[in-house]
Amino acid sequence: MSNDKIVVCGGGGFIGGHLVGELLKNGHKHVRCVDVKPTTEWYQVHPGAENIVADLNIRDNAYNAVKGMDIVYNLACNMGGMGFIENNKGLCMISVLINTHLLLAAREYGVKRLFYASSACVYNADKQVNKALDVYLREEDAYPAMPEDGYGWEKLFSERMCRHFREDFKVPTRMARFHNVYGPFGTWKGGREKAPAAICRKVIEAKTSGKHEIEIWGDGKQTRSFMYISDCLKGIHLITDSETWHDPINLGSSEGVTINQLVDIVEDIAGIKLKRSYNLNAPKGVNGRNSDNTLIQKVFGWEPNMKLCDGMEKTYRWIHDQMAK
Ligand code: NAD
Repeated sequence: MSNDKIVVCGGGGFIGGHLVGELLKNGHKHVRCVDVKPTTEWYQVHPGAENIVADLNIRDNAYNAVKGMDIVYNLACNMGGMGFIENNKGLCMISVLINTHLLLAAREYGVKRLFYASSACVYNADKQVNKALDVYLREEDAYPAMPEDGYGWEKLFSERMCRHFREDFKVPTRMARFHNVYGPFGTWKGGREKAPAAICRKVIEAKTSGKHEIEIWGDGKQTRSFMYISDCLKGIHLITDSETWHDPINLGSSEGVTINQLVDIVEDIAGIKLKRSYNLNAPKGVNGRNSDNTLIQKVFGWEPNMKLCDGMEKTYRWIHDQMAK
């Protein structure tokens, strides 16, 4: 496998940057990394990779990215946390061009694998109205389709396209539905950050400023699960390398928490207690969501297992260092 030529699309982003680093560490010699952002804005720039700045919405750029490659990881997408996806539905949907062009290029040149990063946002919103911690979403809960508007529709459509390119054109596609991934070297400010990083930043700001208050989006009772980046990478490899499993599959932690409990964890790490206020008008997404891991357990005998408090500790330390710089 280390002779495979690999392209990581979206490699300047959070998950892509970690994936490139891991591939190089594991001895892969030909790793290409493509992202639309200038390299100065990449979370990680790995000198051992071939680093290319290109817009994969453009057909020719996608073809150039895939040409000569054995494995394509599509982690490129114009996305962010709830604050971004609820206010940028059109932009989110344009990312359909990235996957479309990558699939067409994979069909043209022939690849061993094309991995597509889908999301828990494909799940039917009607199944996520309860704030209970046991709203476990099974793979079949994506249908009948009623995903997150904009971003979720793009993900569900792209999943479907991967399936039909596999069935009709024999492009060996694989896909995972990520449930909230977090860790160091990701977005923590600027409007695209997700809850774990946003809460770390707010707690650090409160601690540093001495103003011991925090604003929480929603009533804090909405439930989620969060997967640490190392579990995400392990799952991506298991799914991509599988000879037999090709349908969408959950890749997420099943350790559910309320947003209030997530704040408790970060307060404990910081050694501080904050006065909480709740912004009920802020974007907050669905009420309750967790990953049902029955299928991934059955197929791969494994599920993400990093404890949230341990992963958050590492994430908090990294964001703390960034803010200190
Ligand atoms: P990210 O925003 O950090 O990385 C995505 C990268 O794609 C960015 O660096 C961005 O510049 C790049 N990109 C966007 N448009 C592009 C284009 N036209 N051409 C080339 N590059 C382009 O996000 P991430 O957290 O690393 O997510 C990676 C993938 O996983 C995405 O597809 C995302 O939808 C999916 N996902 C992530 C999460 C999560 O919690 N992080 C959850 C579910 C799904």
